[in-house]
Amino acid sequence: MEAVNIGKLIKSLNPVCGCTVGCSYCYARKINQRFKIIPDFSVPQFMENSIKRIGMRKPTNFLMTSMSDFSDWKESWRREVFDKMRENPQHRYLFLTKRPERISLESDLDTFWMGVTVTSKAEVKRIDDMRKHVRTKHYFVTFEPLFGDVGDVDLDKVDWIVIGTETGNRKGKITSEKEWILHIARQAKKKHIPVFMKDTLLNIVGEDSMLQELPHGFVK
Ligand code: SF4
Repeated sequence: MEAVNIGKLIKSLNPVCGCTVGCSYCYARKINQRFKIIPDFSVPQFMENSIKRIGMRKPTNFLMTSMSDFSDWKESWRREVFDKMRENPQHRYLFLTKRPERISLESDLDTFWMGVTVTSKAEVKRIDDMRKHVRTKHYFVTFEPLFGDVGDVDLDKVDWIVIGTETGNRKGKITSEKEWILHIARQAKKKHIPVFMKDTLLNIVGEDSMLQELPHGFVK
């Protein structure tokens, strides 16, 4: 089996660059340092030109927050991007946050997918906070980088699960264990939720347990 790289299925479109969360393992900060996109990564900026890509005809799954956290987006930025999304229903738009409690949003857009990142048991509460603070049709949860067994999780209304391990060469890097990954996958399967394991998990879980499923309606 050859595992698919998620980058082939989900394209980054970054209307905002910069983030105030400050994760030690942040890859976006490194990219910004390398390419000098904005002068200070801890001061998020609106990248107006990038939203032109939303107008492209070819249906695409877009991750809108690979260089930011949605909780940092100003209301005016959000409004401009959501107007453009409404005009372009051919795409799927995925947004991620680690601070759902700071967002207050209600959307009837069928193409809007709200997600939270959960890396450990201590962060599972974010899923509840997401359902409470963002009222929308589709939710997903990204367990990446998975740093431990998250225990039993309430996956009510969750339509997609993504699981990944830490990559890169960070000092103290944690590689996810097979049982942590499978514990999440089993809970998702009980609720018939599609599961996507990042290609880097193939060597950990093995071919027989590897799952790479996309939700119905995503561009394949
Ligand atoms: S939330 Fe995402 S973009 Fe922000 S610091 Fe953490 S990893 Fe980087």
